[in-house]
Amino acid sequence: MSSVTTKLSNTAAIALSEVQALVADMRKALGSMKSLAFEYERDGKSDKAHTSVHNLEEMVLEMVASYEHCTALTQAIKAVPEVYQPSDQPTDFKTLIEAEVNKIKEASSASGQNHPLFRQFRESVWNVHHAGQPMPGEEQEDIVMTSTQMSILNVTCPLTGKPVIELVDPVRCVDCRHIYEKGPVMHYIRSKKPPQCPIAGCPRVLQIGKFICDPLLRIEIDELRSSEPAVPNATNIEDFTDLLDEDDE
Ligand SMILES: [Zn+2]
Repeated sequence: MSSVTTKLSNTAAIALSEVQALVADMRKALGSMKSLAFEYERDGKSDKAHTSVHNLEEMVLEMVASYEHCTALTQAIKAVPEVYQPSDQPTDFKTLIEAEVNKIKEASSASGQNHPLFRQFRESVWNVHHAGQPMPGEEQEDIVMTSTQMSILNVTCPLTGKPVIELVDPVRCVDCRHIYEKGPVMHYIRSKKPPQCPIAGCPRVLQIGKFICDPLLRIEIDELRSSEPAVPNATNIEDFTDLLDEDDE
């Protein structure tokens, strides 16, 4: 790696952590908007409550667009040091980054109304009164993965068997995106030769410096935790949904 590329990678790493923090904040805000809309929908039948839900939906759609842009930006920042070509002319990094952002956005199939986060919002509101029924426009059996399912690739640490939602010090491999408890995976890398990723079918060889707890990881784990019904109350949750349905009629 040339020294220019190294400098570029270091600068990119700093920019990346800033954009990632922003993405994490947006994700949190989207979560709050979803809970708010859920409460409006559950409590109110008035026009005012209906308007509030509708306004929130429009805000969420806008925020999802910004979210998409920022996540594309994080990927673009990572890609730029790799596509950068040293030359005599000054490099126009803005254009370089914009080109990468556009490439990433074009490759993405989930955008705007189809974005998993927007869909999650609509689904949460819809389920208040229509749990178990398909959302309008989704009667065909399209399998749409939620964003959490997309980003949390393994729900238990392959080394300790502990559920990801119970990890004390969760880290994610930047290459294969698998999640582990930090201590055991560091020990595994030091003692196993070669330290192949222990997830069945994963071809990656693990490296010490490639594990981070990125800002999104904790949020995604929180989302996963809140999406799983607590075991002792699992049956109560069913009853609760039935009550809501009867209310509607
Ligand atoms: Zn892996």
